Amino acid sequence: MAATGSQSAGTGTEEGYGSGHRIGIDLGGTKTEGILLDRQGNQLARHRVPTPKGDYDGTVATIRDLVARLEGEIPAGGRATVGLGIPGAISPASGLVKNANSTWLIGRDFKRDLTRVLARPVRIENDANCLAVSEATDGAGAGCGVVFAAILGTGCGAGIVVHGRVLGGRNAIAGEWGHNPLPWPADDERPGPACYCGKYGCLENFVAGPAVAADHFAATGETLDAATILARAADPSGDAGCKATADRLVGRLARGLAAVANLLDPDVIVLGGGLSNAELLYERLPAAMQPWAFSDRLDTPVRRARHGDSSGVRGAAWLWRPGEMPDAA
Ligand SMILES: [Zn+2]
Repeated sequence: MAATGSQSAGTGTEEGYGSGHRIGIDLGGTKTEGILLDRQGNQLARHRVPTPKGDYDGTVATIRDLVARLEGEIPAGGRATVGLGIPGAISPASGLVKNANSTWLIGRDFKRDLTRVLARPVRIENDANCLAVSEATDGAGAGCGVVFAAILGTGCGAGIVVHGRVLGGRNAIAGEWGHNPLPWPADDERPGPACYCGKYGCLENFVAGPAVAADHFAATGETLDAATILARAADPSGDAGCKATADRLVGRLARGLAAVANLLDPDVIVLGGGLSNAELLYERLPAAMQPWAFSDRLDTPVRRARHGDSSGVRGAAWLWRPGEMPDAA
C-alpha cells in the first residue's frame, strides 16, 4: 500500500513525517471531522465540515482540503500522517468500499483516490474500529492487550484491537457484533425484529438507540428516546416503564457481551455512542454478564469511552501507531 505515496516525497524542503504529527478524519453521513494531533496525542486543531452527501468526487475533495488546512496548522511545518474512519469497510478481496451507509462510497476505490490526491499512503478503517484504536491507545482501554469496543448509537458497531492493532479479519467483518443474533433469546425475543441485513433478531435491533425506543414504545405506548428512557430509569423516584425497559436492555447487552467474552475474552469492554453515557450500564453489566459466561468468575471491566465523541477522529489519527511512518509502511 505504501508504494504510490512515497513517490511524492523529496520536494526540496520536505521535512517528512519526523515531527510525529497525525491527522485523523472521521467521515460521517452528514459531517466530516478532522483533527490534528501532536506526537503525544495532544489536539492541536479540529475542524468540522459538511459531508457532500451523494457526491463521491466532492467527498474526496473535502478530505483533501481538510487535510491541507490541518497540515497548515502544524507549528513548525512538515507533513502529517493521515488516517480515516468510514462508516463501512474496505473489502480485502477487491480493495473497494463495502457495507457503507454512505452509499455513494460503495464500490469505489477510495483508498487509491485519497492516496493520489493526498500524495501519501492513507489508512482507512471502519469507524467502530477507530473507536477501539482510540480507546486502546490512550483511552479507557490503554494498557490492555485485547480491547473490544462497541458503539451503541443509532446503530451498533464494534471493533477489536489486539496489542494496538485493529483485528480486521479475513473478510473485514471482525467485530460485526451488531449483526450476530441476540444470544439465549427468550420466547418473546424470537425471531426478533427484522434487520436491514436480511436476517431477524440481530443484536443491533435490540440494543441500539432506536431499538430501545421501539421496545419501550411496544411495552408502554410512550414515545421517548433511548437517552431519556435510561435517564428516567436511573432516577430513584423513577418511572416503572423506563426501569423495565432499562432492565431488558441490560439483560440483552449482558448476554451479547458475555458471548463476546466466551469467544474473545477481551481485557476490557469499552462502550461508546449515545447510550454509553448511561451510568447504570457500568453499574449493572458486569454482574449481569456473569451467569452467561462459561467461567466461574468473570471480572471483565466494562468502561465508558474516555474520548467520547472524539474517539472516531482520534482513532483514525492513531491508525498510524507510534513509531510508524508512511515511508516505512
Ligand atoms: Zn442484521
